[in-house]
Amino acid sequence: IDPSTFDQVLSTARSASTATMETTYIMIKPDGVQRNLVAPILERFLAKGYILRGLKFMNVSKSLAETHYSDLSAKPFFGALVDYIISGPVVAIALEGKDVVAQARKLIGATNPLASAPGTIRGDYSIEIGRNVIHGSDSVENATKELALWFSEGLVDNNPVLRSQTFAD
Ligand code: ADP
Repeated sequence: IDPSTFDQVLSTARSASTATMETTYIMIKPDGVQRNLVAPILERFLAKGYILRGLKFMNVSKSLAETHYSDLSAKPFFGALVDYIISGPVVAIALEGKDVVAQARKLIGATNPLASAPGTIRGDYSIEIGRNVIHGSDSVENATKELALWFSEGLVDNNPVLRSQTFAD
């Protein structure tokens, strides 16, 4: 390949390798849980290589749902959105990895399942915007806020050094 292409490839690889480590908040919404999509959804994120830092199966109080979606409180669908989120248990997930906030949004797909590409989670598993299976933080700032809200007890240490050790004596 010509040298300028080589330089481009190298600089892309370098910027990817220095991408910042982040943690994002992912939530499998009640429809995803009821439709038995917890395992296939988790599989996509974990198989890609993101590190689990938090995982819990929980019912959501109305006030927690309202706080989580407070930016949307003026929207006409806000009441229905809160009712949807509290309609059954959710799976709250914290995932760590390079650029994971934006990358997870790509895996999740567009908000409206009719616009989300096949191969994305929403594109593969949903057809209704009001039943779109999964949430993922839309910015690093919101990820920080949402992790504090849903994992106020803190995240789990999941150190790569420990993960690579064998348990043989
Ligand atoms: P995202 O979840 O992709 O970040 P938003 O923050 O805009 O999207 O909206 C939050 C959630 O509110 C959506 O995932 C969806 O469940 C719901 N929602 C958004 N727009 C609508 C709508 N027009 N009608 C019903 N529900 C909606």
